[in-house]
Amino acid sequence: MKLHIHSLLLTPLLAFGFSATTASAFELKAEKVADGVHALIGPTTARTYENHGLNANFGVIDTAEGTVLIDSGASVEGAKLLERQAVVLTGKPVRWVINTGVQDHRWLGNGYFRSKGVEVIALTRTVESQQKYGLAQLDSLRPVLKERLDGTEPLSASRKIDGDVARLQLGGRNIELHYFADAHFPGDVVAWLPAERIAFSGDHVYVDRVLGILPQSNAETWLLAFNAMKALQPVLIVPGHGSVANLAKAQADTGDYLAFIVSGVKALAEDMAGVDEAVTRLGNAPQFARLANFDELHRGNVSRAYLRIEAEQ
Ligand SMILES: [Zn+2]
Repeated sequence: MKLHIHSLLLTPLLAFGFSATTASAFELKAEKVADGVHALIGPTTARTYENHGLNANFGVIDTAEGTVLIDSGASVEGAKLLERQAVVLTGKPVRWVINTGVQDHRWLGNGYFRSKGVEVIALTRTVESQQKYGLAQLDSLRPVLKERLDGTEPLSASRKIDGDVARLQLGGRNIELHYFADAHFPGDVVAWLPAERIAFSGDHVYVDRVLGILPQSNAETWLLAFNAMKALQPVLIVPGHGSVANLAKAQADTGDYLAFIVSGVKALAEDMAGVDEAVTRLGNAPQFARLANFDELHRGNVSRAYLRIEAEQ
């Protein structure tokens, strides 16, 4: 009787605690793209405390021997959140993590998975680039994620693979990593499923929103990498940011945009027009104004692409 009363008293409290947690919990949108292959689609907005820096897309692949997670999130907390969603989709623990790139949300969750003995896989060139930028990335995440960044360490992959292509067999699934050229960051790769013809493009492709050319980005080689990815002839692309797309949509939102920037800044740099003139001449691009974040990012993209090409001439 005493026990019974006790549990009656506790139940409402537990129920309240549970619903309060789930109501405030951030979730990515899960989308099945093939048998046992899922995309986790994050918001196309900026990083926020609420979204754990998971303003990007991730992949979940079910195999006979466990789950493969493509990219580990921007923090320990973000990694746990991705793990929860992955396990709901497959019913199997995460056994492997693959890193497609160097931006924070691609890999800063590695430490959480490594602490659980999960194998984290990346190309050596990706790891080298991650190590170069990791501490600076943590510094810029700190004011956004605050205490949610606690315990996050810039730990790279436990299995590093030399060369430009890795052909993995994980739990009976073929998964390839392809490095084509330095893109959004040096060392970014595409994760390619040859049987399903699906590309998890990482930050090579942005759909629905304008891509970000950062000081670390090389727009010219990024365009080469994008074209090399196209040669794989994917039937579906899970982009780094935005909705799952076919090649035509990826071309319109990333390929055409990069081509516009690269051809524009190259011609102006050859004429030594100067960065201000480049921003004036290329800053007005109504054909891309439909892309989210255009007003915030486009002129800065022109300016950084111009300065890089000018410096390399
Ligand atoms: Zn990204």
